[in-house]
Amino acid sequence: MVYKNKKLVNFIFSGIIGLLLATSPSFAIENKLTKPVLIEKVQQSERDKRQYEVIELANKMRVLLVSDPKAVKSLASLALPVGSLQDPKDQQGLAHYTEHMVLMGSKKYPEPASFSQFLSRHAGSYNASTAAHRTAFYFEVENSAFNKALDYLADAISDPNLDPKFADKERNAVNAELTMARSNDGFRIGQVDSETINQNHPASQFSGGNLETLSDKENSKLQDALVNFHKDYYSANIMVGVMYSNQSINKLAKLAENNFGKIPNKNINIPIVDKPAITPNVLNKQISMVPAQPKKLLFLQFPIENNLAKFADKTDEYISYLISNSSHNTLSDQLQKQGLIEAISSSINPIRYGNSGIFSINVSLTDDGLAQKDKVIGAIFNYLQLIQKQGISDAYYEELKKVLALEFKYQDVERDMSYVEWLSDQMLLYPVQNILNSDFIATNFDKTAIASRLKSLTANNARIWVISPNQTTNKTAYFVDAPYKIDNITSEQKANWLALGKNFTFSLPELNPYIPDNFSIVKQNRAQAQPAGFSKRGNHLHFVSQYFKTEPKAAIVVSLRNNQAFSDAKAEVAFNLLDYIASRNLEQLRFQAGVAGISLSTNNDNGLMISASGFSQHLPKMVTAILNSYRNVTIDEQSLVLAKSWYLQELDKSEHAKSYWLAVNPVNELSDLPYFERDERRQITATMTINDVLTYRDNLLTHSVPYMLSLGNLSNEDSLDLYHSIQKTLVRDVEFTPVDNIQIKKSLEAKMAQYAKSTDNALMMSYIPTGYDRIASSMLSYTLSKIISPWFYDQLRTNEQLGYAVFAGPVTVGDSVGMSFIIQSNQYDPVYLFKRYQEFYPVILSKLKALSKEDIEQYKKAVLDELKMPPQTLDEEFSRYMADYRNSRFMFDSRHKKIEQLKKITKQDLVDFYNRSVMDKKGFVFASQVLGKREDNAKQPEAISEFTEFENVSALQNELLK
Ligand SMILES: [Zn+2]
Repeated sequence: MVYKNKKLVNFIFSGIIGLLLATSPSFAIENKLTKPVLIEKVQQSERDKRQYEVIELANKMRVLLVSDPKAVKSLASLALPVGSLQDPKDQQGLAHYTEHMVLMGSKKYPEPASFSQFLSRHAGSYNASTAAHRTAFYFEVENSAFNKALDYLADAISDPNLDPKFADKERNAVNAELTMARSNDGFRIGQVDSETINQNHPASQFSGGNLETLSDKENSKLQDALVNFHKDYYSANIMVGVMYSNQSINKLAKLAENNFGKIPNKNINIPIVDKPAITPNVLNKQISMVPAQPKKLLFLQFPIENNLAKFADKTDEYISYLISNSSHNTLSDQLQKQGLIEAISSSINPIRYGNSGIFSINVSLTDDGLAQKDKVIGAIFNYLQLIQKQGISDAYYEELKKVLALEFKYQDVERDMSYVEWLSDQMLLYPVQNILNSDFIATNFDKTAIASRLKSLTANNARIWVISPNQTTNKTAYFVDAPYKIDNITSEQKANWLALGKNFTFSLPELNPYIPDNFSIVKQNRAQAQPAGFSKRGNHLHFVSQYFKTEPKAAIVVSLRNNQAFSDAKAEVAFNLLDYIASRNLEQLRFQAGVAGISLSTNNDNGLMISASGFSQHLPKMVTAILNSYRNVTIDEQSLVLAKSWYLQELDKSEHAKSYWLAVNPVNELSDLPYFERDERRQITATMTINDVLTYRDNLLTHSVPYMLSLGNLSNEDSLDLYHSIQKTLVRDVEFTPVDNIQIKKSLEAKMAQYAKSTDNALMMSYIPTGYDRIASSMLSYTLSKIISPWFYDQLRTNEQLGYAVFAGPVTVGDSVGMSFIIQSNQYDPVYLFKRYQEFYPVILSKLKALSKEDIEQYKKAVLDELKMPPQTLDEEFSRYMADYRNSRFMFDSRHKKIEQLKKITKQDLVDFYNRSVMDKKGFVFASQVLGKREDNAKQPEAISEFTEFENVSALQNELLK
């Protein structure tokens, strides 16, 4: 939901960090084990049956224990309230660099890769992240390996080797990570922000670090700074931990003592920042900036105090709720209808600068909106006035309160690494009782505080950002090379905004009609018909949830499939234009549904696919409403122009992606049958008329075949009624024939090259063998990836530092699956990367051959556990049906077949598969290369000379189809 997107952690550097060295016997510090102290109760949802307790260990570390007998895997996190705000001026990025180095081998486990290798053998992985105000480390692992994994983490935190031998490597890793982030606009905006706030505040520094900032200087040696940073700040008394597992609370408490209890307590104080970030001289500013992606954004940002302690008031959330609301005649509704904006939202971060934060109104503009941005700004200030005068009402607060309470009560949470990362953030920021519910309680409607905040949202108090290509700028932000300029907002501008704002007469939001009040559970007819298989005339499929029978929620997809819907490029363009125009019209419904716990979306599935999930009470009628909106949408000159501009920007976006994604895209596009080149679609877009879109729409909404899948709290009858009502709107005698997916049936060695807008190179090598079916190739590739990826990462990233993004994993083209290897590098070109891949392939083979039978069984078990893991939310359960649904495999048995296949896999099968695909190249070999941009005179990156060159994806697709 938009109004709640309180991003506490804005710019996080995180990534998979790999590790490794020799074993030397060592001793755990024998802590005197006194009984941990239990602190207050954690408030939890009445429907949540897990047990939560917060204890304080003898070393003063607070640990949240979550005992969940149904936990499908175990999770842990450890965080400390120390982040980039504590970076010394002469070693900027030190907190981030320390986060990396801490995981590069410890006293008991000196091999940097030992933790990641242990985890990958036990269906797990770990990660870490550094934000302005904190650093966090977290992992997930199968339940049986939890105790050992905790020992790895605790040892890394208390006794990291911080070995200078790896220092240079990790400096490079940090530098590569930050270089990669240059194409991330959030990061670019963050850097421009730090250059334009009070330069005495630590948030003005370069928070991520690079080879320049993290280096030896006359008065500061990096290695000393690293060791001191760990010594000074990594103290148990300021740390928090989270442990989530299937074990009892008592066992978890014991585990916490035995592991986190070993971390030394240095009795330090939580570091505080005392300088103001936003001083009067950095306000009343307009900041213009050129983004990396072709986007058009407007932000109105206002400083706020750190008001976390008043979280239960929801003062800023209340304002945000009204700003984002898009019911009839609101700010959002009018700006949408005038074609000025794509979307408007608001976000709050009270600790953006540690000791203070920002309230931000975020607008995504259309071309027209950019040209008339003063009108948009005027409208926003006008609307803020209206809220101030008439919008502070009990009714809205009650609505907000109700919506938040419902969301908390029926929360859908996937308990994974980001969940425990979030929990440890919560522990650092909120009282123990409110760790779980701080975002969801609204118990004190403070009208005075709301009025006073609204009063402060003025131009004089603002930093207004205009982010779009082709602007005049006069500065370049450090390292990210983002062009920008900063000007005072003039009194003429302010007068102009006031005048332009007066042209609008807004209404305050309507109360939300969709908030559910019926949570009864439908009696399911156990004798419901099971699918008899795919029918060319349509199917209705309803399933009872196997896991969430007591949830008043359901999920529905309806597809109107049509063999002509994507048969040529013109049809594809028409679909996208229609979908955009109809979706704009649905903005109000989508917003109100979202607030009421229902998510709605449309997509393509051989035609139009409508998805709805959430509280079941109003669900079927929303599907009907979406369909009606498609049927009745007005397509005029203005909406067509908007749609074309949006679509062209979407096409451009894919060409501005980071090098890694540029390399991945072609292989994904190969599965898209038939694929039409972006250039062709651009040309066609220009020629599209209103009539083209209308004709396409009318055909799609009458001559398609209906397919529908539903799951959860709906009766089969209600679900079927919806299906029949849709069926009635369609011409009867139409048939739909699914198109066969691509299968790799012959050997082909192909390459493609693309030129990036950023400086990084990338190479993705894919190897998909012939001779295996969909299920077998997928299970072999998946299991192989589990085994190989830590090796590949350890060698090419940790040891050789070829790049920051380094992965080996499965790759799919149509119905065939194989192995892929990919690196994005800011130093090496594809020729060198390819050479290193090729030299490493035989090493992988011999390591593979050297694995014992037990090793293989362990990896198979890890994959099997993942496949058998029950879903954590109804949406996840639903998504398990979706791949088969989209491919018209209506027996829905792919997962079952995969499990059976996996059980049969032997070591020899894995070796054979690797040999056939990678070593002997019997199948499709594809080199997808990305060549980074160079300055005029710099040496151009080299492309590899092997393989047959293909000009584009469609040419390659045609060859594969022959
Ligand atoms: Zn990092």
